[in-house]
Amino acid sequence: MEGAYSPARAPVLILLGPPGAGKGTQARMLEERFGLVQLSTGDMLRAAVAAGSKAGTEAKAVMEAGGLVSDRIVLDILADRLSQPDCAKGVVLDGFPRTTGQAKALDALLAEAGQQVDTAIALEVDDVKMVTRIAGRYTCAGCGEGYHDSFKVPKVEGTCDHCGGREMKRRADDNAKTVMSRLDAYHAQTAPLIEYYAEKGTLKRVDAMGPIEEISGQIARLVAAATA
Ligand code: AMP
Repeated sequence: MEGAYSPARAPVLILLGPPGAGKGTQARMLEERFGLVQLSTGDMLRAAVAAGSKAGTEAKAVMEAGGLVSDRIVLDILADRLSQPDCAKGVVLDGFPRTTGQAKALDALLAEAGQQVDTAIALEVDDVKMVTRIAGRYTCAGCGEGYHDSFKVPKVEGTCDHCGGREMKRRADDNAKTVMSRLDAYHAQTAPLIEYYAEKGTLKRVDAMGPIEEISGQIARLVAAATA
């Protein structure tokens, strides 16, 4: 791990929840409304896979099978990103931590800079519905805006509402078979973090089954209160 995360007083937020819960969508909302930096370890790993780096090559098969990439690889990638200057504005972690080992390593990393996790927001959803949600989702290749075949189609077919881009992409691991493994991995290794943050007194729970704007409003209020 290189560098240190040393903001004056920047919030560190975590979004917890199974695949499909809307972590990416809500992280992007927090980025826009609060000027935070979205840190998605999934995006970082996909970039490493696309770049064909050593870490990416090691992670590829695990991601395709819906398992969790080793803490060593993920922590290296995350620590590196956290040390970059833009993170001094405050960060929203999306898809990290996913294991107790990662949560403890994050606490240690932040403590070095006199920081700590301010709020961990658990997005509570119905697992069964996540399979349909994930199987229909896609994003704009240009700006990353998320869409869904049934729940959120662009205003003009094939054109991004946000940036006007016309190239859409679907994730290789967003298929029904891999989703089941990803849900299993979530329950076995990530769900215990809800208790971890509850014990520290930093956990907030949000019902994430309703309309996106309502959930965003609830999360924005929580974050505004936590960072006031
Ligand atoms: P996501 O984009 O967050 O759904 O992540 C996609 C995939 O990347 C996951 O199914 C894991 O294989 C891997 N991944 C992302 N973040 C982590 C993490 N914090 N720890 C381990 N594996 C991760």
